[in-house]
Order: sequence, then structure tokens, then C-alpha cells
Amino acid sequence: MSDCIFCRIANGEIPSATLYEDEEFRVILDLGPASKGHALIIPKQHYADIYELPEEAAGRAFILASKMVKKMTKALSCDGFNVVQNNKPVAGQTVFHFHMHLIPRYEGDQVGLGWKMGKLTEEDKAEILEKMQITD
Ligand code: AMP
Ligand code: ZN
Repeated sequence: MSDCIFCRIANGEIPSATLYEDEEFRVILDLGPASKGHALIIPKQHYADIYELPEEAAGRAFILASKMVKKMTKALSCDGFNVVQNNKPVAGQTVFHFHMHLIPRYEGDQVGLGWKMGKLTEEDKAEILEKMQITD
């Protein structure tokens, strides 16, 4: 995928501010940070999104997220973290190479990641559980 920007960054073809690198992943600073220290975990292999990412790689990506969050919290003295991962344009994905956002949060920051809370209706609950073939 030589035309994929994250393939080129993850494999070192394009320089990036790298916080961590191993055989499988590179962690870089986001160029359009939501907050100071906003980083991205990018696999070196091309997977468009979570639907393509093998489950074993997903597990290793989350383990790395856990390690990075702890290390970055100490280094940056932030007060919390959002771990965010977007799939498909409707969900806000703009780069179609799987990545996880690590977003440090600071008391009083103005980072807007929220949504308007709805209410789980009995009808929706029944429909979803049926579709997912889960019974109480
Ligand atoms: P998403 O909307 O989840 O696909 O996230 C894409 C993210 O990649 C955004 O937060 C962008 O700021 C970031 N981004 C895009 N191009 C680059 C780049 N060349 N280097 C670092 N971050 C980038
Ligand atoms: Zn790619």
C-alpha cells in the first residue's frame, strides 16, 4: 500500500515524531492533536479498519495502548486518557489504515469527544438482544 500515508509513516518511509516502535507497531504524535501529547498507535501492516485487523493483532494493539497510557501519564502528568478508535467515515475515520488514538486529558481541557446521551428503550433493547441472539 505505497499510496497509504500511514503505511509509509509506520514503516519509516516518512519521518514522524515517534514515541515507540517495535516490529509490529509505531506510536507517533498526531499532527492535529486534540490535546498535548495526542498520539496514534499504527500497525506496520496495512489493515483498513477493525473489520480487517486480525484479533491477535487487536489484542497486542490494546496491550500496547495500556503500556503507552501509563508511560505517557507519568511523562506528561495528565489527569486521564481517552483511547479512541474510529471505523468507516460515518464514525469519523479519515485515514483508512487502522489506528488507535491515545488522547491525554487534563483537568479543564476543552477536548470534545462526547455525545448526547439517549435512553435505552424496551423496544430497542428487545430488538437488539434478539438480533444478537442473546436472551436474559
Ligand atoms: P481518524 O479521523 O480516526 O482517521 O484519525 C486520523 C488522524 O490522523 C487525525 O487525528 C489526524 O490529525 C492524523 N493525521 C493525519 N495525517 C497525519 C500525519 N501525516 N501525521 C500524523 N498524524 C496525522
Ligand atoms: Zn496503510
